[in-house]
Amino acid sequence: MAEQNRTAIVTGGSRGIGKGICKRLAAEGINIAIGYNHDEKRAAQLVDELEAMGVRAAAFQGSVENLYEVKRFFRQTLEYFGSFDILVNNAGITADKTLVKMGSEVWLRVIQINLCGTYHCCHEALQTMLPNGYGRIINVSSIIGLTGNVGQANYAASKAGVIGFTKSLALEVATKGITANVVAPGFIETEMTKKIPAEIYRDIEAKIPMKRFGTVDEVARLVSFLAADESAYITGQVYGVNGGLYM
Ligand code: NAP
Repeated sequence: MAEQNRTAIVTGGSRGIGKGICKRLAAEGINIAIGYNHDEKRAAQLVDELEAMGVRAAAFQGSVENLYEVKRFFRQTLEYFGSFDILVNNAGITADKTLVKMGSEVWLRVIQINLCGTYHCCHEALQTMLPNGYGRIINVSSIIGLTGNVGQANYAASKAGVIGFTKSLALEVATKGITANVVAPGFIETEMTKKIPAEIYRDIEAKIPMKRFGTVDEVARLVSFLAADESAYITGQVYGVNGGLYM
């Protein structure tokens, strides 16, 4: 069923999984505020694509690691759309090194964007969602937050942190009409996974029970399910979308 006059904020919406989520939600009639950091051109192109689908769309710049920029981005969203109902915390990075070689700068950068960024955006979103008595928060974690991975201690810690954070948030807002859930993708075809060397890529593929990487649309499908009005009784949950790689 099409949502009525709902608006979603999607961080990291300009490409990859975030772009897939924007398009999927727009196909359901949901207006979209795209958060981007560097890629203004791609964000502007996506605004045109989404508007051509018949919804309102706008793109706002801001790094999620920076509270001042997040506050500006949320203020601009409120000015443009009046309000919002859905927050998808999708922005994220990897910066892989084995722990022995991982200096504190690389450690902190990933924690600051993936975990602190999620905190910044959820904290801002509650200022609107609590008075509205309605909200759908979907935080994008990763299979790596559940399994760990060689060379990804920073990323695994940030994504495991997102899970504990989301469960705590879900408890705090459970009676306020707001749900908070985690989507934990496995290996999905995006620019992030294009960085994986070919040999390792093939090894991973061989270990996935479905023998292939997932698509952004397959992640977006799950996000849109959780973002729906009708998903009101689902909160504090972690959903894998990983071709059976982690059960
Ligand atoms: P991607 O193609 O590298 O895109 C990352 C997105 O995050 C971009 O839109 C980028 O915006 C944005 N971003 C990065 N740093 C940011 C910052 N400081 N502030 C605001 N936005 C920022 O990545 P993806 O594969 O689509 O991944 C999306 C999410 O899914 C991430 O949280 C990732 O950890 C998670 N995930 C991905 C996979 C996978 O296999 N791909 C698996 C599990 C989980 P700009 O381009 O404008 O900088």
